[in-house]
Amino acid sequence: MSSSDRKCCGIVEEARSRRAHKPQPWIVLKLAVGFTLALIAYTSYVYVGIFCRDMIVKNESALGSLTIGIVFLVVFSILLFVVLWSYFAVVTTSPGYPAEFLEKEELERHLPAHAQQSATFNDTRGMSFELMSPKVDVSNHASALSNSGNSVPVTSPAVPAGTKQDKVSQSTFHHQGTSTPGEAHIVDISESMRVPGPAPHLHHEHFHDPSSDASSAMFARRPSTTPVLVPEYRFCNKDRIIKPPRTHHCRACGTCVLKYDHHCPWVGHCVGAYNHKFFVNFVQWASILSFWMFATVLGLNIKAQRRPLAPAINPQHIVLLALTALFGLFCCLMFLTQVQLIMLNQTTVESMGFRSMQEREQDNLAHMHRWYECGAKRRTRQLWDKEWGRIGKEGNLWWLGSRRANWESVMGKNVWWWFLPVGRGLEDGLNFPTNPRFDRQGRWRRRSEWPADLR
Ligand SMILES: [Zn+2]
Ligand SMILES: [Zn+2]
Repeated sequence: MSSSDRKCCGIVEEARSRRAHKPQPWIVLKLAVGFTLALIAYTSYVYVGIFCRDMIVKNESALGSLTIGIVFLVVFSILLFVVLWSYFAVVTTSPGYPAEFLEKEELERHLPAHAQQSATFNDTRGMSFELMSPKVDVSNHASALSNSGNSVPVTSPAVPAGTKQDKVSQSTFHHQGTSTPGEAHIVDISESMRVPGPAPHLHHEHFHDPSSDASSAMFARRPSTTPVLVPEYRFCNKDRIIKPPRTHHCRACGTCVLKYDHHCPWVGHCVGAYNHKFFVNFVQWASILSFWMFATVLGLNIKAQRRPLAPAINPQHIVLLALTALFGLFCCLMFLTQVQLIMLNQTTVESMGFRSMQEREQDNLAHMHRWYECGAKRRTRQLWDKEWGRIGKEGNLWWLGSRRANWESVMGKNVWWWFLPVGRGLEDGLNFPTNPRFDRQGRWRRRSEWPADLR
């Protein structure tokens, strides 16, 4: 490659990285909020201004009696009020930005000079992490952690009392106190993060016996060895801060977000630590409202069509049915997914990591057993679970040991708060209790290394 080529690529790279640092323009970020409000306004107009009004003023085209019209209107108004309230809460509540909590660091002082160049790596769990450099001091932290207790001190669990759950240690976020490099032993992260997959040249036939030592060794469960609690692994080179645990950088918003779940264009920013609960409330009530509108309009139209002199179907009713069906289905799926993830104490980003780990294991099982040996595959997976615990549960750094504890950490202890966009969960977005099955640097350990009472 000639020097001019390199220069050209360099310019392109630079332009790309500049673009990556820039958030989306405000108007683009908020566009879908306007669209969502327009959708709510139009469907409300059709429901109230046409469907209910026809019944209340006893129009010829009315599909029901005055009483039905009034009852439908009242129920609709209550549901709409809660939907708008939840939507307002999620749109106006910031997801939580670490920059609001941290001073823009003296951080660089604490970081190894060689680690000042940025690089992006793929974690073994399939998540893309922005890291400092492929070579970061890790070993030094083992002593730093135990000596100063700065990064991940083990304190009493900040979890609800009275719920059945495991003991958890508190991963406290401190942005200072990273150890000084120097005599540090340098570990190549890219090496440690590589998951040994099945060798491509190996033929299926060689590995159909699950009891074979070679097979078990080759295809054992291999969790990520990334020490995710070590501060250097959580450096955001765009914001130049050490991110609190579970924080991720959102490209659309152009900033780091506390307990990043996902970027939601419909609310115009990210769903994170402080608005996650409101987001769940919104999709919950939006799906209930959509199904209420869909069911009542469809029900009365079907009933009217059965009459001897059936009136023509109002085309706006058909549009309303299509919109509420689509929107309701989308919100309902979102709600069910969120409930499931919250009960597992996984964010959407984290769940993608677990899913890709499960897919890798499926590949390994396909190499170990023939496609029809489902029982053998299940037994191998049970063996792995016996050795390590389950992926996404015992194998989740943030798992609190029970669904209830996981749920309350996001949705709060008060049952009424679960349904209304008020209050907040037990987390502060900066500190999270960690699963005691992991080591102090955030690596998943074998069952044999767990605290005795959890094995
Ligand atoms: Zn960032
Ligand atoms: Zn975002």
